[in-house]
Amino acid sequence: MISVQAGQNHILSRITTAVAPELVPVTRALGRVLAEDFTAPIDVPPSDNSAVDGYAVASGDIPASGTRALTVVADLAAGSVWPHTLVSGQALRIMTGAPMPDGADTVYPQEVVTREGDRVRIGALAKGVNVRMRGEDVEAGAIVVEAGTVLRPQEIGLVTSLGAWQLAVRRKPRVALMSTGDEVAEPGTPRRPGQIYDANRFTLRGSIEQCGGEVVDLGIVPDDRAALHARLLEAAAGTDVILTSGGVSVGVYDLVKAVLAEVGAVDFWQVAMQPGRPLAVGSIRDVPFFGLPGNPVASLLSFMLFVRPVIYKLGGRRTLFPECWQARTLERLPKKVGRMEYKRGILRFVDGGWEVRTTGPQGSGILSSMVAGNCLIVLDDARGDVAAGELVTVEPF
Ligand code: AMP
Ligand code: MG
Repeated sequence: MISVQAGQNHILSRITTAVAPELVPVTRALGRVLAEDFTAPIDVPPSDNSAVDGYAVASGDIPASGTRALTVVADLAAGSVWPHTLVSGQALRIMTGAPMPDGADTVYPQEVVTREGDRVRIGALAKGVNVRMRGEDVEAGAIVVEAGTVLRPQEIGLVTSLGAWQLAVRRKPRVALMSTGDEVAEPGTPRRPGQIYDANRFTLRGSIEQCGGEVVDLGIVPDDRAALHARLLEAAAGTDVILTSGGVSVGVYDLVKAVLAEVGAVDFWQVAMQPGRPLAVGSIRDVPFFGLPGNPVASLLSFMLFVRPVIYKLGGRRTLFPECWQARTLERLPKKVGRMEYKRGILRFVDGGWEVRTTGPQGSGILSSMVAGNCLIVLDDARGDVAAGELVTVEPF
């Protein structure tokens, strides 16, 4: 028996390098992982500019009390530059975003002045107000987005504000995926008596794509030694991870074990967790291999715990594990000491606090519990039964 954490550490210690970077246009970069620190090549804004529509003046001309009239020398729109120096007694009519002229350091909003022909009458004002300074958003040379960041719209906008039009991101890790079992039927095809439709290949496909991977779908493999052997070798060609579900529980253990021994080096683990427990871990032709359990909840949970961090690490991400919260359980939760337990929960914010209850029956084949839930309730190895009202850890889906 191996603990979840020891298993995760062991698996992650074997992933030492990320996949190669590739250049993509900024329009294709959303959700991708930045491969190198992005350093600002220019200041943003590139020059001091007006924060309001109004009149730029030299602070030396601001009257300490009363008012004073200045001559309006020109009108400056955003996108233009006034190629002169403002001198004492002059004001420049200026629009929001237009660069400050030399000689001026303060802008009067147009609402607080009186325009009289080509003169403008100004009152007291604090020196330097209503000017956005060069580099106040980003200074040239600063690292504005770190390597390993998953790019959101705001990161993309920030780098385009610095003139970037393409970015170095990690290529998507390629994950070979197959279901195993004579009883597993392809959705959309007739189902023979005794067969069930494939769920795992689709929960896992979505999970792979959600964490930034690309799926290589190898379909359903029957419980047949030669077929499994051939498909696993096929899976190792040009992929970064190989994933199967089913065939690692005690009943069919020997078949999969024998085939895996032929094609690679694979260990069979009993993980101290519920649901989940059996897990095959190893490599086939140097490609990391994971044999997930067949039960739909167990396979999805095992993916979340052991495969997602691997895809993240291969994909160059900085953060490998999701953030967890604390919530008060509305129910008593039976719990065995000595293993991690993961219940599907419904988390709600009520009266200023987070509350959680389970989705009902928690069997490892009850995939609808994952649909009803919006979080996992994560109960640590050392913990025993949990009373209603106690705090528990939750991981939102
Ligand atoms: P196994 O680990 O192969 O013994 O499978 C355990 C349980 O999971 C059995 O009830 C299988 O029928 C079920 N199972 C296996 N693969 C899938 C799949 N791809 N989709 C849904 N259920 C599956
Ligand atoms: Mg099976």
